[in-house]
Amino acid sequence: MDVEPEALRQLAHRQALILWRTRLEEEKNVRQRAVGAILPNLEAWLSRKSGSVTFRLTQVLTGHGCFGEYLCRIGREATPKCHHCGGDRDTAQHTLEECPAWDQERHLLISHVGRDLSPAAVIAAMLAEDRAWKAVVSFCETVLVKKEAAERDRERANPARRRQRPTVLEIEPTALDSKSRIGADCARRQFKKIERKKKKTDSLDY
Ligand SMILES: [Zn+2]
Repeated sequence: MDVEPEALRQLAHRQALILWRTRLEEEKNVRQRAVGAILPNLEAWLSRKSGSVTFRLTQVLTGHGCFGEYLCRIGREATPKCHHCGGDRDTAQHTLEECPAWDQERHLLISHVGRDLSPAAVIAAMLAEDRAWKAVVSFCETVLVKKEAAERDRERANPARRRQRPTVLEIEPTALDSKSRIGADCARRQFKKIERKKKKTDSLDY
């Protein structure tokens, strides 16, 4: 029986997605900030017609970026404190939801996204309305540009604290920005990457 290539392609794509979702649902992956927030809306996230994933949006979604807690974890800051308000822990969620330094930007964000700034609510709002997506991207760009500039100033003031750039993201933009790439090949690459990481972890795990 002849099967249309397009039908085969769609079947492979669907199977890859199911496998990908299964992998993402593993407990260690769900604990990741972005995975936990996107999983309930995975299909909507992947099939969205618009909405690009920028580097700075990825930083806020994953928590891996210019945040005191992350910089402290990778050895580039002595403490996880927030340099912008003096708070104990500068995280992506602190930046998005709490830090008074970004009240003005947050006011604009809330007018498009609503008051609930939990990762899951933000993702749902982004998927529901294009203006919400743009408002989140705009918040991330505006605020992270300022945080990065402040970090560069701190590095200049104390070059010894420069150790390594936080370039390794557990979830890279390409994994989130699957709008144009989510073919079976993209999913397959993602599995291979997870497998490689798993083997590395397993080999250390004895
Ligand atoms: Zn703060």
